[in-house]
Amino acid sequence: MVKIKDIEKVEDVSLRDFCTIRIGGYAKHIFFPKNEEEVIVLYREALNKGKKVVPLGLGSNIIFSDGVLTHFFIHSKNLKNLSIKQVGDNFYLDMGAGVSFKQIIEVVKKYNLEGFENLSGIPATIGGAVCMNAGAYGSEIMDIVERVYWVSEEGDSIEYSKEDISYSYRYSQFQEGGFIYRVIIKLKKSKKDIKSLIKQHLLDRNKKQPLDLPTSGSTYKNPLPHYAGQLLEKHGFKGKRVGDIGFSEKHANFLVNYGNAKFEDLLKLLEEAEKVIFDKEGIELQREVRIVE
Ligand SMILES: Cc1cc2nc3c(=O)[nH]c(=O)nc-3n(C[C@H](O)[C@H](O)[C@H](O)COP(=O)(O)OP(=O)(O)OC[C@H]3O[C@@H](n4cnc5c(N)ncnc54)[C@H](O)[C@@H]3O)c2cc1C
Repeated sequence: MVKIKDIEKVEDVSLRDFCTIRIGGYAKHIFFPKNEEEVIVLYREALNKGKKVVPLGLGSNIIFSDGVLTHFFIHSKNLKNLSIKQVGDNFYLDMGAGVSFKQIIEVVKKYNLEGFENLSGIPATIGGAVCMNAGAYGSEIMDIVERVYWVSEEGDSIEYSKEDISYSYRYSQFQEGGFIYRVIIKLKKSKKDIKSLIKQHLLDRNKKQPLDLPTSGSTYKNPLPHYAGQLLEKHGFKGKRVGDIGFSEKHANFLVNYGNAKFEDLLKLLEEAEKVIFDKEGIELQREVRIVE
């Protein structure tokens, strides 16, 4: 059995380096397991020590509080194996949780596969994307997921087929805890020009999203049929700042860090936005971004 001391880790590191919005204090330890067995050992140790476990991918939809966080952070950077199996026109991509959407796009382009093109440009690992049920342009990752391999908070390994997974708009049961260590998705050989569809999506994202500043993506889920961005804009939050944190001038639902944003200011801004939208519209905004304190 693997010993915890043999698992790669870093100690006392800035959490700003582990999230795209670059806010937060310090992590006591971040672990980088390289296989399922190491993930299990980490969960059992955390359970023994009464520690909360926080899985980490690219950190593109996560915000950390300031101060020192002593949780067991488990990062997927060493889980990057990717294998491809072709059965007729279907391609099965079998991936470690840390495989990035950029890596998937390379495969998609190489074999001209359809099913993933609408998701191109989302900064994500496959593990983080399944947890968030990430989506764009009318598609979501769960449309193409076949199987998910997951370690529970008790350290048990469970394999799910898609039909057994509970998910909805920007939600999956994996948000309740545990760690996804492997995912299989299914894509199909296409007759369409997939490369040009990907290019169009990337151009559109570039136009609409504040990609020049550190950001954490969508702050709130869209309270359909409304759009969170439109509601925020209507009530004066587009471009509104508290200290160095603000709702972007370009896209009101994206928080941006103008330099040295403080978590405390971010909470003030979110609480104000949520209160105003509730008072004026009777709508309770649901946070999409995951806050870790
Ligand atoms: C510029 C920008 C554009 C974006 N555009 C979109 C978009 O179009 N659509 C969209 O849906 N999102 C979008 N996002 C948000 C974000 O990219 C997605 O939510 C993405 O899926 C997060 O993946 P990640 O690997 O960065 O996860 P992280 O941000 O690291 O984590 C997100 C959540 O998943 C959990 N998690 C991470 N890895 C695992 C794992 N292996 N097992 C279990 N839980 C895990 C974390 O604990 C956390 O709760 C955008 C973000 C940015 C910055």
